[in-house]
Amino acid sequence: MSPLPIDQMKNELVDHTPFPSFFINLQGDLLESNNWSEVYFGYTADDFAQNSLRNSLFASVHEEAWNVILTSEQAIRFNNLQLVMSNGNLIDVSLFTKRCLFNDEQALFVMSIPLDAVHTMGDNYQELIDLRNGIQSSFMTVTLDHEGFIVNGNQHFLKTSHWTPKRVVGKTFWRLFPETPDSEKMAQTIWKTLNNGQIWQGEVEKVTKNGESYWVYLTAIPTIGTKSEDTRFILIEKDITKEKTIQLQLEKIAFIDAQTGLMNVHRLESVITDMIAEGRHFSFVYLSIDKFYTIKDLHDQEVENGLIVEFTKRMKMYFQDSTMARINEHEFVVITPLPEWFIQGFLNYLQQHPIYNDNIAIPLAISGGISRYPEDQSTFLQLMKASLATIATVREAGGNNIASLSRATHKTLNRQAVIEKRLLLALNQQNLQVLYQPQMDLQTGKITTVEALVRWTDEEIGVVSPDELIPVAEETGLINRIGAFMLEKACEQAVAWHHAGIHVKVSINSSVREFRDKNMAKSILETLEKTNCPAQLIQIEITEKFALEAEGETSIINQMRQLEEKGIVFVLDDFGTGYASFRYMQLLPIEILKIDQTFISSLTKSEKTQRLIDGMIQLGKSMNLTVLAEGVETEEQKSLLESYGCDSIQGYYLSKPVEWEEIERLYKAR
Ligand code: C2E
Ligand code: CA
Ligand code: CA
Repeated sequence: MSPLPIDQMKNELVDHTPFPSFFINLQGDLLESNNWSEVYFGYTADDFAQNSLRNSLFASVHEEAWNVILTSEQAIRFNNLQLVMSNGNLIDVSLFTKRCLFNDEQALFVMSIPLDAVHTMGDNYQELIDLRNGIQSSFMTVTLDHEGFIVNGNQHFLKTSHWTPKRVVGKTFWRLFPETPDSEKMAQTIWKTLNNGQIWQGEVEKVTKNGESYWVYLTAIPTIGTKSEDTRFILIEKDITKEKTIQLQLEKIAFIDAQTGLMNVHRLESVITDMIAEGRHFSFVYLSIDKFYTIKDLHDQEVENGLIVEFTKRMKMYFQDSTMARINEHEFVVITPLPEWFIQGFLNYLQQHPIYNDNIAIPLAISGGISRYPEDQSTFLQLMKASLATIATVREAGGNNIASLSRATHKTLNRQAVIEKRLLLALNQQNLQVLYQPQMDLQTGKITTVEALVRWTDEEIGVVSPDELIPVAEETGLINRIGAFMLEKACEQAVAWHHAGIHVKVSINSSVREFRDKNMAKSILETLEKTNCPAQLIQIEITEKFALEAEGETSIINQMRQLEEKGIVFVLDDFGTGYASFRYMQLLPIEILKIDQTFISSLTKSEKTQRLIDGMIQLGKSMNLTVLAEGVETEEQKSLLESYGCDSIQGYYLSKPVEWEEIERLYKAR
């Protein structure tokens, strides 16, 4: 590097350095100095005028060192050099030199810092550096910002996860984990712990860029900044995939859970399949330790292991000869011919025989579900599913209870299982239909938009209404495929209408689960492109429940914004039924409010509803939103809405959902 021309700042530079500083020429003669030499070393300007630097302050400096100072073209630092004070005493300093131009001549800038004038971080600092280097060289590390976006990852991490630095930076923390409910729960626990300022440690499953799984022992550490934006989270990970794979394989081969000695879920499945083949009757009891992850967070690994072992002991004592299995970390199954009242007594037994940690009973709550074979369910998978549904009901009612579902509920569950099976087939054969329901602009009386609604008639199970179909599809993840199917049909139809001079937009319904897929926006845009459909022809309806969940998930919001930028309009469906929040209405790119039909149906019956709807419409307008009312069935409802300034309506008053040809007819009739 060539010397910097700092000539013009000569005086300021020397004057403003807070330690003795000089400009000297390459022969060692003093050109300029500041007052700090007097303060620290006792030399006045006069002293330096009478005696050269070399013969006064630098008299103790070895000839070689002096030559290095004068001749080195590079900046140098002497950590510890002895200089001579004016009273003849020696003083330890750190010395810095740097070549520069002074009055267009080659010169040196020299600064000396007396060591006792500064506090040295020396050893401690070095220790920190060593520690960091040690961690970086033997662990995978990832640093996250306060919102959970990745800011960097070290070489080990990149190698294992197959990410490139460019790609991984800006991805979210959630992207590092598999998209299973268990993993999502785990990631949530880690995230919460970090945000509470605490360290999280444990074994977790992660995924590479390509979605392959690997296991790590994770230590996640929050570093709190002075501002919340400065907060960083550091993930230090040790790859334990090999150990874990061996353990999992062993468990699979041995069909035994290593920790408790109980059979595992694979073995349980074959035992039950055999029992069913033999026609034996039994109760399938699924037991789940409530809030296990909280208990786990409060105690260390040892306590957690002890808890599971002790719990297993009590199960074995109480259920004696029954068949028992461990399903996962905190869930167990007991197969027993014992009656329901006895099974439920297990909770009392647990209370009488608590599990202790440090002489304090760990508060344990158990949620359990009982399903009977053959009365309730008929296969292993259905028994499992029904039990989970039972436990969900138990939890909703407060937990710590073992219950069974009614015969009717089991019937519904069975139907859901059938729907699931048939739906998969229907999707593969593109056997779903789409109906369209028009919306009318109240000012112009024209049809501007149609909502696409799914219809399904299965040859085996008959008509399945959306209200039955959608929840099952959401639970099984098939909603993503329904969504993709509906979008494609909507785009194709919108384009066809467009070419036929029928200028209507198509509005499709979307579930939050679809947007959890990080590629949702991308695949929507791809479908638009594939079908040659301009984004302006498509609207997406999201429910209030969706909005509430999206509010907390940056990646959903970002995807919505990305689509909005391309011209897709978002509609807030079922407005008024959920948890209308101004926050998400500001946060999410919503342009249209769709007032739910329950309000409209009581519109003409109650004055209170009238004021409420009037208020909703004014609220929407004040936020610059378009307001749409759905479920409009009568002229009277339409007129009232019109008088409140509602923008458009949808409902049987105009038309039921109909085939596309019928839309053409309705459009042309207006
Ligand atoms: P939604 O989005 O609120 O759709 C409006 C529902 O009200 C439709 O029922 C429609 O047929 C019905 N409806 C329309 N006008 C009137 C009226 O004037 N009076 C009365 N009483 N009802 C009217 P549908 O088609 O059975 O759909 C039910 C729900 O299923 C929809 O509610 C929507 O949440 C969901 N859904 C339908 N298709 C899809 C889809 O393709 N994807 C997703 N994710 N959800 C869908
Ligand atoms: Ca809708
Ligand atoms: Ca609705």
